[in-house]
Amino acid sequence: METYLGLDLGGTKLLIGEMDSRGNILKYKKYDSGYFNQEAALQIIKASLDDYIKTVGWYDKKPVAMGVGLIGRVDSNDGIWLQIDPSRTHPIALAKELTEAYGIPCYIDNDVKSATRAECIWGFGQISKNFVYLNVGTGIAVGTVIDGKQVRGSHFNAGEVGHLRVGVHVGVKCACGRMDCVEAIAAGIGFDNCARLLRDRYETNLHIPAEKGERVLVSEVYALSQKGDPLCVALVDIAAEALANLIMNLVRMTDPDTVVLGGGIVADGYMHEKILEKLQPITMRFVTNGVVITKLNPGFIGLLGAGAVAMNR
Ligand SMILES: [Zn+2]
Repeated sequence: METYLGLDLGGTKLLIGEMDSRGNILKYKKYDSGYFNQEAALQIIKASLDDYIKTVGWYDKKPVAMGVGLIGRVDSNDGIWLQIDPSRTHPIALAKELTEAYGIPCYIDNDVKSATRAECIWGFGQISKNFVYLNVGTGIAVGTVIDGKQVRGSHFNAGEVGHLRVGVHVGVKCACGRMDCVEAIAAGIGFDNCARLLRDRYETNLHIPAEKGERVLVSEVYALSQKGDPLCVALVDIAAEALANLIMNLVRMTDPDTVVLGGGIVADGYMHEKILEKLQPITMRFVTNGVVITKLNPGFIGLLGAGAVAMNR
């Protein structure tokens, strides 16, 4: 049986797994991946892959190709990982390095663009040629598919819509230099920002970590909001407003018939409902398939994306 190897490299974990052409995950293993630059990431990928081959092994024979999903800017045509973020720019020919090291053809892409490829093959792409895949996790980005083709831009930087302003003002400065970007309000990092800004204005039982580097848990915000905790109700309302505005702006931009939600913050029934309540019917009238949560397993969408990169080549 032909299989594909996927590597989903996030900021804190690396998920390695093998799947078939229908997107069934056959085997996988999770590794810790604390890394700072691209060279260090390459070493972590190699060490983890060596361990995977030794301890998990192939399902049948060697996979026909491998795909890697990465944060930051990726030239998927030439297999070059260009940048993690503007402060970490050290292009490496990752696809070539891994192809040579393991004797398996390797292809790479940005993580959200990879997940969008998976959505194209196994998800709503089966019924739509014009959709937006909106990922809301630690940050916010989209994959935009127009006439069946994903938009990439002149520097592989299309879809970084986390840095759009969406008419919600809380007074938080974003890492990009602007104020009140949607990511700074409604992503994982945004919930944390807003909780700290608004904590003196509302009563709350939410745990707001004092230590640097630790963030408010969005799952806890959702649970407390459902119980009527004043701060958490406000945080959910602000984030839902910001995300609904973002979605409506995106709809006006490319005229999709489907908006697919992925990532921990929005692949959640409670937040999904809150967003739907704030959408305006006139703006949304051509989004005939609706604003829907991905059908792909949210916990594995990054890995499936990496497999889709291997399949698409
Ligand atoms: Zn920004």
